[in-house]
Amino acid sequence: MKDSVAVIGAGTSGLILAKGLAQLGIDVTVYDQKEVLGSPVRASGILSINGLRSLGIEYEEAVTNTLYGATIHANKRSMHVESEEPKAHVLERHALNEICRKEAEMQGAKIILKRKINNSDLEELSKESIIVGADGAVSSVASYFKMGPIKEYLLTYRAEYKGDVENARSVDLFFDKSITPGFFGWLCPDSTDTLEVAVGISPSAGNAKAAFERFTRSGSMKGILGGYAFAGGMASMIPIGMRRRMADSKKEVLLVGDAAGQVKPSTGGGIIYGGNGAMMAAHAIYNYIKHGEGLEAYEKAYRKRYGKELMLHSAIHKAYAGLGGRGMGIAIDIFIALGVDGFLGRHGDMDMPSLMLKRLFLRRG
Ligand SMILES: Cc1cc2nc3c(=O)[nH]c(=O)nc-3n(C[C@H](O)[C@H](O)[C@H](O)COP(=O)(O)OP(=O)(O)OC[C@H]3O[C@@H](n4cnc5c(N)ncnc54)[C@H](O)[C@@H]3O)c2cc1C
Repeated sequence: MKDSVAVIGAGTSGLILAKGLAQLGIDVTVYDQKEVLGSPVRASGILSINGLRSLGIEYEEAVTNTLYGATIHANKRSMHVESEEPKAHVLERHALNEICRKEAEMQGAKIILKRKINNSDLEELSKESIIVGADGAVSSVASYFKMGPIKEYLLTYRAEYKGDVENARSVDLFFDKSITPGFFGWLCPDSTDTLEVAVGISPSAGNAKAAFERFTRSGSMKGILGGYAFAGGMASMIPIGMRRRMADSKKEVLLVGDAAGQVKPSTGGGIIYGGNGAMMAAHAIYNYIKHGEGLEAYEKAYRKRYGKELMLHSAIHKAYAGLGGRGMGIAIDIFIALGVDGFLGRHGDMDMPSLMLKRLFLRRG
């Protein structure tokens, strides 16, 4: 039986996995094609404070802002949800990945940068090592080992704007089917002088850069962005469905993070779910090497822990994508009349919707 692990991809998922394996005494090497880590470089990530704690990373130095709430806009209606307690941090992705890299190396993981792994490398590496694909949404490990497709994706375009951010305490989400079909546009204060402006669309709706231009030229946005200077942008994609298989003992391969589709379809957030998936994968690999247990235990544990939550996130995504701007405007009126904004301010949970539902039905608060 193989007793070493080769991880393809030094994003947060691959690095958290490597740290976990090294802590358990497993020989692990991570390969990444990039020289500068962080995906995409200079991007930010909004992560719930509870979710961040679950990853066990010393993340504080990567925090650039703290968020207390969100405002949802649709069809000239707005609903503001705010908590007295901080709900989420905005983190600089390069800094976060560097922290994860240092923590993994401190535990004894080897990290090799500027090394793109192709099919012949996979053939060689898999003779000696268990392979983990942590290589993102378009995973070549998943293709090489025939782990099945991810059926749903979003196309995104995000940009950074420099200027004085008026309200750095909350994010703004804009729903308009004619501008961002299948998802939404958002403004996130990365810090008091940097605003992230981004859109997501379903792939059938065409080009994300064109949607970004529609979004930034739309009436309300022109006024908001008037005082800012564009500082660069890039297109990317987000998987919003789970991969058909995440582990295979016969092939001795596993997938984690975006490669496995461990992403919340309602928001496109994948760092917390992918990081937790990586920790589960580390334990399954340890049990495989030391006790001969099947790697499939990882997939089973992941689906048990997150399957229901992902279904709820998917239902939320389908509901707002189907409603469009006008329907969302009506929904906002109804939510405000029912006091949903106050409820979300107290009990909103961006990672675990089932906890929110439980609180709603128990009528606590
Ligand atoms: C616009 C946008 C905004 C987002 N905002 C958030 C957010 O606010 N919060 C959140 O939680 N998530 C967010 N996400 C999602 C988040 O970025 C991903 O879920 C997360 O980065 C996945 O991490 P990962 O380690 O699985 O993969 P990645 O971060 O994609 O890392 C994969 C790594 O594999 C390497 N690689 C790929 N192929 C090879 C190869 N053949 N050889 C060697 N190396 C290879 C790549 O260079 C890369 O470093 C956002 C995504 C986008 C596009």
